[in-house]
Amino acid sequence: MSTDKVSQEYGSLLFTDADMQERLPKPTYKELMKVIKDGEPLDIDIANEVAHAMKDWALEHGATHFTHWFQPLTGITSEKHDSFINPREDGTVLMNFSGKELVQGEPDASSFPSGGLRATFEARGYTVWDPMSPAFIKDEVLCIPTAFISYTGEALDKKTPLLRSEVALERQAKRVLKLFGHEPHRVITTCGPEQEYFLIKEEDYAARPDLVLTGRTLFGAAPAKGQELEEHYFGAIRPTVNAFMKEVDDELWKLGIPAKTKHNEVAPSQHELAPIFEQGSLAVDDNLLTMEKLKLLATHHGLACLQHEKPFEYVNGSGKHDNWSLSADDKNLLEPGDKPEENLQFLVFLSFLVAAVDEHADLLRASVASAGNDHRLGANEAPPAVISVFLGDELSPVVDALINDRSVHTAGRDEMDLGVPALPNIFRDNTDRNRTSPFAFTGNKFEFRMCGSQQNLSDPNVILNTAVAEQCDRFANDLERVPEDKFVEHALAWVKKTFREHQRVIFEGNGYADDWMDEAAKRGLPNLTSTADALPSLVKPENISFFSRYSVLSEPEVRARYVASAEQYAKLINIEANTMVTMARKMYLPALTQYSGDVATAVAAKAELGITSPAEKEIIQTVTDGITKIAEATKKLEASNKTAQGIEDPGEQDHFYHDEVLTAMAELREEVDAMEEVCSEDYWPVPSYNSMLFWV
Ligand code: ADP
Ligand code: MG
Repeated sequence: MSTDKVSQEYGSLLFTDADMQERLPKPTYKELMKVIKDGEPLDIDIANEVAHAMKDWALEHGATHFTHWFQPLTGITSEKHDSFINPREDGTVLMNFSGKELVQGEPDASSFPSGGLRATFEARGYTVWDPMSPAFIKDEVLCIPTAFISYTGEALDKKTPLLRSEVALERQAKRVLKLFGHEPHRVITTCGPEQEYFLIKEEDYAARPDLVLTGRTLFGAAPAKGQELEEHYFGAIRPTVNAFMKEVDDELWKLGIPAKTKHNEVAPSQHELAPIFEQGSLAVDDNLLTMEKLKLLATHHGLACLQHEKPFEYVNGSGKHDNWSLSADDKNLLEPGDKPEENLQFLVFLSFLVAAVDEHADLLRASVASAGNDHRLGANEAPPAVISVFLGDELSPVVDALINDRSVHTAGRDEMDLGVPALPNIFRDNTDRNRTSPFAFTGNKFEFRMCGSQQNLSDPNVILNTAVAEQCDRFANDLERVPEDKFVEHALAWVKKTFREHQRVIFEGNGYADDWMDEAAKRGLPNLTSTADALPSLVKPENISFFSRYSVLSEPEVRARYVASAEQYAKLINIEANTMVTMARKMYLPALTQYSGDVATAVAAKAELGITSPAEKEIIQTVTDGITKIAEATKKLEASNKTAQGIEDPGEQDHFYHDEVLTAMAELREEVDAMEEVCSEDYWPVPSYNSMLFWV
């Protein structure tokens, strides 16, 4: 046993495999492992024993309550705490926790968005234990990761479809691997989410109703300095932030979350935290916990952690890179092999990814569509809304050669013969970094870079998993019929055909460039620039059947998800519009009236002394004009938002919010920001960008 603090505390608040081995009778442990590792059904006797051990462990670690921790369609996590107490007649108390309480909960929770799946008379929702994700203790509460489903078994959360898509992918990938002579015990997805966020002073945060209510600044003139000096990226971390990051690491490690890398990001006051990758659904759970801890622990240091995709205009927003791969019994299937014959399997899986992304670009785009992320995508700080795949200097010549049926030269290496059965030797290349690509191969994994910082990665991963499952399925259907001695030849032909059919999605150039948008349009790639445009892809007939074919989402579930997301978008913009109207009327207009009034009083006093003051008069005129313009823009925004609220159809409503309300919001902001440049700082009712972004 190591004696350093970190190895001693690592996972101490997580009910780990070691804890289970220590506390469970051997046969029970074995049975539980079958559930966790092999996905077998859970017996209630086993659940009772696990619950007992889990409770003892939790009590020893100071827990008083337990909760079923779940992910409703809002994307963040939810919990309702129940204490373990069971008072007895003699006035003492027993601490109870049964197998039934572990396995299933009934939080009711009828107020979460369900997209209409839950009529109120059957509003019950159930939470069901996900034994793959270990229980943990947070603030004296034993948290049990669960899926959230309706009375009739429909998924009401983000986790259920993710687990289903993992099952589908595992099943289909095993068929493919079998053709290559491998029969792995498990095939899992791996996911490493890089999380970006901002840290500002808590007092600045509290003084900005827009930040508090919407997570982003709805007003604010440009700071004197932005990110143009690029001094913040990877710069020395200042002491307050360092102390915060240290506490975050400590807390995450206790929860067994493998936080690995922390650094300053491009924008001032922006940072990033990346963990070591884990099994897909576990990585998503851990990312959600990480986001929660970041917010909470910031307050210990007088800071506020902003996770909105675009808290500030004029500087970069925050994303979350979804590093994704597939692993068969710990062997990464996207790792090019050392031997050419191993590379056929690698190329097959690579072709799956390329085809999957091309065929389901609309769904991938929809999976990262949100009001917040709309501000980033295509704004030269994040990939464009067009989805393409980047392969890099090492792979793209190989894929080119396969497409064109010729041999390949790569820099400084021998010619590679692509004839059967000899295959190219592919070298891992990690140096290629094309930050402008939405979907980049980075040596032994893909990195999906369109995700927003506050998003739940279940959504994109459901699409990726299912889309790759579909490719595996097709390949297996084709190749299972081929005689063994013809397999290599046919598999290679399949790879070539797949790359050929999907080469339009491969793009190695600069994704931020304007001419790429023209080129992408020529190639017929979808360019869904806004959430309003992207979300309806979910309910296209071919996409509904795609989800149901792999038992990931039924038609009612997909439709419900579409409605919930569309409503979420409308609600968010509505809140932003309301916040702007309130801030304009109650903060900016009174401040400007006061300022111009005080200047006017001063001018009048000076006039009595016979002093003329043309510059000050000009200020009064400018501010008075500004007041008129702000008042008008406020009325216009209010009217536009009112119209939007009256639209019934969710798709139509989203488009109206996008086209009309957002435009009215931009107009109001412009007038207020112009006044911020003129008004005295002493009168200005909220902290400026300078203060928020460049604090010491
Ligand atoms: P960057 O993209 O900033 O260069 P890295 O290459 O170090 O960063 O990795 C970024 C993330 O990718 C990390 O969270 C890492 O754990 C994760 N990652 C590495 N290998 C895999 C894999 N096989 N599957 C999923 N994620 C992975
Ligand atoms: Mg990255």
